[in-house]
Amino acid sequence: MIRLFISEPAPPFAAGLMLPLNIDQGRYLTSVMRKGAGDQVSVFNGRDGEWTARIAEAGKRLVVLKLVEQTRPQPKGGGPVLAVALIKRSPLEYIIEKATELGASKIQLLMTRRTQSDHVKLERLKIIAQEAAEQTERLDAPEILPPVKLDVFLAAPGVEAIIFGDEDSAHEGEDRRTKPLLEVLSTLTNKRAAILIGPEGGFDDHERQTLRAMESVYPVNLGPRILRADTAAISALTLYQAALGDWR
Ligand code: SAH
Repeated sequence: MIRLFISEPAPPFAAGLMLPLNIDQGRYLTSVMRKGAGDQVSVFNGRDGEWTARIAEAGKRLVVLKLVEQTRPQPKGGGPVLAVALIKRSPLEYIIEKATELGASKIQLLMTRRTQSDHVKLERLKIIAQEAAEQTERLDAPEILPPVKLDVFLAAPGVEAIIFGDEDSAHEGEDRRTKPLLEVLSTLTNKRAAILIGPEGGFDDHERQTLRAMESVYPVNLGPRILRADTAAISALTLYQAALGDWR
């Protein structure tokens, strides 16, 4: 069944509600997927659970759905936050898609001292997250938050724990001072957490000192090899979900 994320403001979902689609979704349904009046789709908006809907009107310019019934209740939110420094376009888009599949609740984009660019196509990233949410059968899409400086994020992270991937710990060897991720996760039960991943050039020493001096920041080691930012983000999210999140 085709699943559509309805991001436009609309009244709360209820049986019989008429829901006009935006141009792109209307065109996708009728022109790409060759659907017409009477066909059924699934819709969700991140708040009201998943509903079946029937195409009531399939015009050239406007497609209108009519909600039928709720098929899945809205699960409670609460997935991990991913705070990731801006990196090159395609690995960043890859992170957005994979973090959505892995249940991230929010993706906070960051500018750090070594991020190359401070410009992102936010609308494009939001569409990628929405399409991944549709494919992965989530009932919400992660919020993609526009880039802020690391200090701004640290001043108000909106979580109780920041799991800081410190690539310098890769070379610590046996007498490492930085704890492995799983060990840190075992101490963080039921704390809302963000996973913090740096850019291709890593964090600089000033950032590392600032982070390591913070009470709510937990430096973690992601093994003895230097992972690319996308590998680090995806593997840390996976372990988080397996240890503390909705993979249990
Ligand atoms: N400066 C490195 C690359 C940094 S990788 C270099 O170019 O060689 C990008 C981010 O992934 C890092 O900032 C860190 O957050 C995370 N990361 C990569 N490998 C890691 C490891 N072994 N342990 C902890 N974090 C790691």
